[in-house]
Amino acid sequence: MSTDAGTVAARLRATFDTGRTKPLAWRLTRLRALRALLTEQSEVFLAALRADLGKSATEAYHGEVGFTLNEIDHTLTHLEEWLRPRPAAVPGAFLPAEARVVRDPLGVVLVIAPWNYPLQLALAPLVGALAAGNTAVIKPSELAPATSAAMARLLPRYLDREAVAVVEGAVPETTALLEERFDHIFYTGNGTVGRIVMAAAARHLTPVTLELGGKSPVVVEPGADLAVTAQRIARGKFQNAGQTCVAPDYILAVGDTAPELETHLAAAVHALYGDDPALSPEYGRIVNERHFDRLAALLEDGRVVTGGGHDRANRYLAPTVLADVSENAPVMQAEIFGPVLPIIAVPDLDAAIAFINNRDKPLALYAFTESERTKQRLAEETSSGALVFGLPVSYLAVPELPFGGVGESGMGRYHGEYSIDTFSHLKAVLDKPLG
Ligand code: NAD
Repeated sequence: MSTDAGTVAARLRATFDTGRTKPLAWRLTRLRALRALLTEQSEVFLAALRADLGKSATEAYHGEVGFTLNEIDHTLTHLEEWLRPRPAAVPGAFLPAEARVVRDPLGVVLVIAPWNYPLQLALAPLVGALAAGNTAVIKPSELAPATSAAMARLLPRYLDREAVAVVEGAVPETTALLEERFDHIFYTGNGTVGRIVMAAAARHLTPVTLELGGKSPVVVEPGADLAVTAQRIARGKFQNAGQTCVAPDYILAVGDTAPELETHLAAAVHALYGDDPALSPEYGRIVNERHFDRLAALLEDGRVVTGGGHDRANRYLAPTVLADVSENAPVMQAEIFGPVLPIIAVPDLDAAIAFINNRDKPLALYAFTESERTKQRLAEETSSGALVFGLPVSYLAVPELPFGGVGESGMGRYHGEYSIDTFSHLKAVLDKPLG
């Protein structure tokens, strides 16, 4: 079948227009097919993820295949209940009358995915799009070519081509897709392209979800158990070699915590990846040379606490912690998106909050503290996509929490029931008897 953007969009729209994607049974069947794809072809996807990003099987299973299966299972369990019309109270002046809110599918959805979790970030939005009764085009990232090819080859074996299409390619192919009219565009990636997507969507008045990134801070306060803190930060930061949108970007070490935290971070990295992380099967690689060069240039400021080694030929960059980093260092200007973790010392919580609020609103804000007062102040005085105490990254696997950014870190949200709302129109229905 043709992969020409116009032909694909027309084919999917024709399917949607028949109405056959609307019944609950159609949606559940597609989710079960997606489930079968992931369980039966899991080895193929794990191999592709290793080829693209050096992901270990454990990491690739948890972060991609297993994650998406959980999203499917949660949706299969609750979809009927989520789709039930919600009764709405009617003011006395309208009575007798009944009102309800109905979730209507939107039509044809375009999902544009990035390279860092190339399977999860293509298929988790697809779960929501299909569960909400839409047809969908997936545009995987060209920077994860093995995973892109595996999805293009295998998805059509499990899901009808009339309802789901995979269009591979880079900027020209995405640009061609963006010329077409969709009913929702779901984009995950950087803010520069996010603006291109939103401008293209404006031509057709198409709603967008933008899942973007940014610098996610970690506040560490005196009194927190610094050994546990360091272990959890290191695990969240260095998985996928730091190429995670919700990875801790930098640490704001409050008061006198920095020196002791440095020691614990070095120990935590050693416990995760051994004497030489280059030899650890658990440690990933940088996606390409362009990103490798960008990251290697960030090592020139600050004092290396651990790591610093790199090897361009293998796209290896050691898990690196930098101390004594200045606010103006290049590493503090843009999202790091790699295995470099700067520590900035701040005198107190006021300074930490001011530091955060002087910058773009982050996708996630993390804090390690024993103080309820600190938790309350961070909740009330800062804005971020998510606020998480004590455990970086994993919050996105809690299916009842919305996942998305605010301001420069994005707009809109998904996962679980939030995906249904994203990919549906919430239609108001009022029924007043004529008698
Ligand atoms: P990327 O380079 O793979 O780009 C993402 C998608 O945009 C790809 O499919 C690509 O083909 C397409 N694209 C690139 N240039 C384009 C153009 N000019 N016009 C149209 N389409 C274009 O991925 P990336 O942007 O490097 O991803 C990294 C960023 O994504 C980071 O900022 C990260 O924080 C963010 N991210 C966010 C989330 C989230 O869920 N919020 C998840 C992962 C990554």
